[in-house]
Amino acid sequence: MEQYQTFVSHLECGLTGESDYEAGVVHGLSRAGRPLLVRYDLHGIKKSVSRDEVWARPGGFWKWRELLPVTKTENVVHLGEVDTPLLSCPNLANDLSVSGEIIIKDEGRLPTGSFKARGLALAVAMAKEFGIKRLAMPTNGNAGAAMAAYATFAGMETYIFCPDDTPDANVREIALQGGKVWRVNGLINDCGKIVGDGKEEMGWFDVSTLKEPYRIEGKKTMGLELAAQLGWDVPDAIFYPTGGGTGLIGMWKAFDELERLGWIGSKRPKMIAVQATGCAPIVKAFDEGAKHAELWQGAHTFAAGIRVPVAVGDHLILDAVRESNGFAIAIDDERIEDARTEIGTREGILVCPEGAATYAAYKQALYDGRVSKTDRVVLYNCGNGLKYPMQENSKTLDRNLPIDYKAMV
Ligand SMILES: *Cc1c(COP(=O)(O)O)cnc(C)c1O
Repeated sequence: MEQYQTFVSHLECGLTGESDYEAGVVHGLSRAGRPLLVRYDLHGIKKSVSRDEVWARPGGFWKWRELLPVTKTENVVHLGEVDTPLLSCPNLANDLSVSGEIIIKDEGRLPTGSFKARGLALAVAMAKEFGIKRLAMPTNGNAGAAMAAYATFAGMETYIFCPDDTPDANVREIALQGGKVWRVNGLINDCGKIVGDGKEEMGWFDVSTLKEPYRIEGKKTMGLELAAQLGWDVPDAIFYPTGGGTGLIGMWKAFDELERLGWIGSKRPKMIAVQATGCAPIVKAFDEGAKHAELWQGAHTFAAGIRVPVAVGDHLILDAVRESNGFAIAIDDERIEDARTEIGTREGILVCPEGAATYAAYKQALYDGRVSKTDRVVLYNCGNGLKYPMQENSKTLDRNLPIDYKAMV
């Protein structure tokens, strides 16, 4: 079987920069209690492969193998990964009289219907490399679903803890994809405590957001793929629905690696962290100029994926947003729901609430002059809209009565 050549040189603490973390051994958080970042021999990659060669490989995020940490082909887990499409939104652009381009990157097309597939495929593949058999995580739904699916495929056990009001489709799909799942009367950080407290007794490997190093590497492929799809360029701004921030941190890392490889230039998009007004720790920290975010009390929003009161990678999110000249912005639930309806009824694209939040944020930012009408912007639709409750908007018809067809218009 073909061996992947790995270019991982070492890992590094995302806060202190300490770089004495060896590749090829199991890692959790750094000694400072912060996420570890995987570093590569980019010079070696540059000599070994070209960007066009990588991009010409068949669909899906595993094509970026030189920029990923998996070393053995047999550890790669496949459930039908695809490159997710960029959907242009001419009707919305027209409605808003913008001359730039509004693009939705539709991550709902991935296995398990969300971008969590990217991160969890990598976390599971690396756990497989290390011979780990039991995984556990707290989740607002999609991460648990992706972990259950990939881990079941790889022959591992999963223990998954969700807030009790997690969308029903998520809780049920976890169980149907082989996960052991519990509904917990608390928020995701309360679920995280259950994992932390039980991991020794249960022999669990903790796959909580950013508590192992490889989910970032999977989510990084969003940035690699986007740049390639845009002809090795980046958009003017990226609106990203931010919970734990894995994707935002990952994309920022991707652009840096691509530039060092000479595969893109030095232009960077504004990285814009979108949160809900009922749970906006990153927005508060950004506005206050703080390096870290405080725990958000009483978190609430129906956009479950961004109901994350505390993020262990808060400093990495804030650094990326600031270095990119981006910003953080909060949107209330009513406007999120309206944005979902608007995208669906104007473009025919059913997005998830978190994806809708990015469009609401774009409109607000346009109004505030924080982005320009000529900008090409990318909005992340993180999950398949069908997983979430939908408004009822149909009428009924009695087939036994005369039908007034003209009234249907
Ligand atoms: C996980 C998730 C998010 C947040 O993603 P992060 O990269 O962890 O910030 C947003 N929306 C949905 C639907 C999610 O599942």
